[in-house]
Amino acid sequence: MRVLVTGGAGYIGSHVVKKLGEQGHIACTFDNLSTGNRWAVLYGDIIVDDLNNMEAIRRTVRAFRPDAVIHFAAAIVVPESVADPLKYYANNTANTLNLLRVLQEEKIGMFIFSSTAAVYGMPEQMPIDELAPLAPINPYGTSKMMTELILRDMAAVNSSFRYVALRYFNVAGADPKAQIGQAYAAATHLITRGLKTAKGFSARLQIFGTDYDTPDGTCIRDYIHVDDLADAHLLALKSLADGRKSDIFNCGYGHGFSVREVVTVIRDVTGIPFLVEETGRRAGDPAQLVADSTKLRKVLGWQPLYDDLSFIVKTAWEWEKKLS
Ligand code: UDP
Repeated sequence: MRVLVTGGAGYIGSHVVKKLGEQGHIACTFDNLSTGNRWAVLYGDIIVDDLNNMEAIRRTVRAFRPDAVIHFAAAIVVPESVADPLKYYANNTANTLNLLRVLQEEKIGMFIFSSTAAVYGMPEQMPIDELAPLAPINPYGTSKMMTELILRDMAAVNSSFRYVALRYFNVAGADPKAQIGQAYAAATHLITRGLKTAKGFSARLQIFGTDYDTPDGTCIRDYIHVDDLADAHLLALKSLADGRKSDIFNCGYGHGFSVREVVTVIRDVTGIPFLVEETGRRAGDPAQLVADSTKLRKVLGWQPLYDDLSFIVKTAWEWEKKLS
């Protein structure tokens, strides 16, 4: 298939482009390189432009004629979204609308959307299944929820448009061959921060909040290896190509680790007993997010290979050591 990948130069996008290429699909990346890198795109062309530029999207779609679009390009940092909500509604919601307008004009009928567990807010039931109410507690989650609703409404009136929304839990790790990985220097995520601290890039790792209603007081997340998540995209693509209906899937393993547990694993894997500082809560963080991914396994046949936090951290560490 011909697949247009927005954000294909970014962390998750580049792992999906790699898999698309390995499986014989033709990928074309559209990326503004704000956090991504040209070298991370191992297959296909890259168009460097922004989704706020509808003419550039139109030109790209008309030239490439994709069968399907996988849409990663977005801003993804929860505390930043609290501080600068308009950036999130512009990048994540309005820019997606630009893309969808062009896809409607050009009659491109298959769409895979990077959604997030943040659409659930602070769910009452754990693990969370896809029927849990959408109640985001930060602008990042709201910006993604709004896009999901736009997709729902668009598909309802247009039978030749189908989509899969994948709700990512906490994506981590790197290509096991260490060809690509998280390369955005200012990345704020826990495992990347921990590894950079182990490398000596900062004096200590901060733990944001130790008074949550969890066994050790720190937040619990479901960490999923980026290659297992990439596989979910390839399965979603196949399901759309096979004519299946629009659908929504959680992407996580179904069990969580606290921030303290993650710190212990990072120290073990790196062998570096870096310092930790316990500080106050970070804005917008729910106490616990753990996926019920039964649907992804049953409906799409997802069989994850790397459900092992030590392995996830190990792949991220091997990659991190290659970065300067
Ligand atoms: N976290 C932390 N220190 C850091 C980065 C993150 O204690 O330097 C915590 C954060 O408050 C959250 C968890 O780790 O409870 C996961 O955060 P991350 O930013 O990795 O992902 P998010 O769940 O926000 O998407």
